Amino acid sequence: HGSAWQAVSEMRRSIVGELNLLQKKIMKDGVIKAGNVLKVDSFLNHQIDVPFISELGKEFKKLFGDRQVDKILTIEASGIGIACLTAVYFGVPVLFAKKSAGSNMDKDVYEVKSFTHNKVNHVVASKKYLNAGEHILIMDDFLANGCAVQGLIDLVKQAGGIVEGVGICIEKGFQGGGDELRASGIDVKSLAIIEKMDAETGTITFR
Ligand code: 5GP
Repeated sequence: HGSAWQAVSEMRRSIVGELNLLQKKIMKDGVIKAGNVLKVDSFLNHQIDVPFISELGKEFKKLFGDRQVDKILTIEASGIGIACLTAVYFGVPVLFAKKSAGSNMDKDVYEVKSFTHNKVNHVVASKKYLNAGEHILIMDDFLANGCAVQGLIDLVKQAGGIVEGVGICIEKGFQGGGDELRASGIDVKSLAIIEKMDAETGTITFR
């Protein structure tokens, strides 16, 4: 009994040893909800573990360091944290697209409609802060079907900017959005790609 158990736990340890920083954190603190939703409220989506997310920012700087990045574009609200903690290492500003034009929002905006499949959303960015010829790194916390990122790409294109790449913390690979973007020639880099997850057993398989 003892030795078999030891073998299993050693195997588990060696698998965990191959995981990167974010994958380990997801294994430790992520909660799988019904409907293929992963909750990471303890460090990314509600409470923000700033030193930890800052390490992810450093990682994105390594991954996209050879690119020209003039600005990082994300979408409110949950992309702002990772975008800012990456922008520190690039030394560039962050622009976050707003989900609806508030009363104090500029009227002169680029706009994307019909943003998600189940709800008509308007996502806007002021023409003041998104300019022709700018090299943009798009970032978000999650990538699932890819609607959010597609919308951000659309905004950059409207402005005449250049999409240098897309940096994602957690990609749900089984939802296909990331691969669709890659197939269209976009440089998508995700720190953790979930291939499979099971709410009942609590298991997660990474690509
Ligand atoms: P997409 O537009 O790619 O389908 O979804 C991306 C957006 O939906 C992200 O901005 C993220 O806020 C949210 N999202 C999608 N799947 C998940 C998930 O499993 N967990 C969390 N916390 N957010 C998700």
